Amino acid sequence: MVPLGSIGPLYLDYNATSPLAPGVLEAMLPFLREEYHNPSSASEAARPIRQAVEVARRGVAELVGARQPNQIVFTSGGTESIHAAFHMALATGNERRKIVLSSVEHSASKGAAQTWQERGYEVLALPVDSQGLPHLDLLEETLAASPVALVSWILANNETGVVLPDPQDFAERVHRHGARLHVDAVQAPGKLPLHAQDWQVDWLSVSGHKFGAPKGVGALYERVPSPSSPWLQGGGQESGRRGGTENVASVVGLGAAALRAHLQANDPTFLSQWEALRDRLEQTVLEAIPGAGIHGQAAQRVPNTTFLSIPGQPAELLLPLLEGEGLLCSAGSACDANHWAPSPVLLALGVPPEVAAGSLRLSLGPQTNQVEIDRAAEILIRVFRWLAQGA
Ligand code: PLP
Repeated sequence: MVPLGSIGPLYLDYNATSPLAPGVLEAMLPFLREEYHNPSSASEAARPIRQAVEVARRGVAELVGARQPNQIVFTSGGTESIHAAFHMALATGNERRKIVLSSVEHSASKGAAQTWQERGYEVLALPVDSQGLPHLDLLEETLAASPVALVSWILANNETGVVLPDPQDFAERVHRHGARLHVDAVQAPGKLPLHAQDWQVDWLSVSGHKFGAPKGVGALYERVPSPSSPWLQGGGQESGRRGGTENVASVVGLGAAALRAHLQANDPTFLSQWEALRDRLEQTVLEAIPGAGIHGQAAQRVPNTTFLSIPGQPAELLLPLLEGEGLLCSAGSACDANHWAPSPVLLALGVPPEVAAGSLRLSLGPQTNQVEIDRAAEILIRVFRWLAQGA
């Protein structure tokens, strides 16, 4: 155990990105050094590289609950996986001209929807309830009203951690009306068990850097592999679905991290200890800061995430002070960090703009411990009181 405050910042921003998980770098290193051959090469020397890519594919297939490894396509991360899913759903010329998503999607999904809107699709962002959960009746009404090609929904919200309650039921509702379903599961690996095949979702996206693999690698699960509609036309890699020489070392890292995340997500003891740490942090802050609250608290949330509202103190002011005290967290989606506008997710939940502006997301990593949690709470409370005194 490192003495408090002696090194580096206290990092509670794992939903933004994570460091490499134990063993991942070691798994990758041979593929950055001696095992450099092109996996598509016909040479004998390339065989171990090809095998390593396929081992990683099996690891990711297990993580997401695929039936078989060829349902997995490697990509450059969550954003690409999401865009690829939209492409596979829509590029083959769909008579259904509507895309439905939630109003609490990540900007990657909103961006993919916008791309297809510019190509003539109608895009509808459905409102959610105060916890960020779907109104299922509204979903069904929308699906029944006019033919929808694709529904895209976030599985675990990156800001609140709120989880889509019953993905299988959700997929059934979507399919009943002839639409297909993409699920953004980028924030789910290692935090809840994934069952893409059983849920019958058509596509499911994950991103390595959220669960201990390097940045710039991810995967897309396809219920029905679609070589006829390549996302990137090229050398026929990924069974013709995504051209381009594979990012072998990162793919191997993704496979190694996937195995760990799969074990972790299926370890109820670990998950409840993780949740207890998160709850301890929330409890301490709620007791010490009058009027503090937790977004999405009434819903099921992934165990590592809390989105706290700190009354009267804009995150814009809080964050640099917290960082100065050694605590790194965020005001919401890291991708929105340069814009000091209140979180669109919170506004979609009906949170008043001034409350949304004073909200902080803290997200724990698998190794976060109680000493760190207590330290984080202590820093937060101290900074809040200091600001409040000056008010
Ligand atoms: N979807 C969600 C829910 C995310 O949290 C993120 C990243 O923050 C993404 C998609 C985009 O993933 P990537 O950074 O790998 O492109």
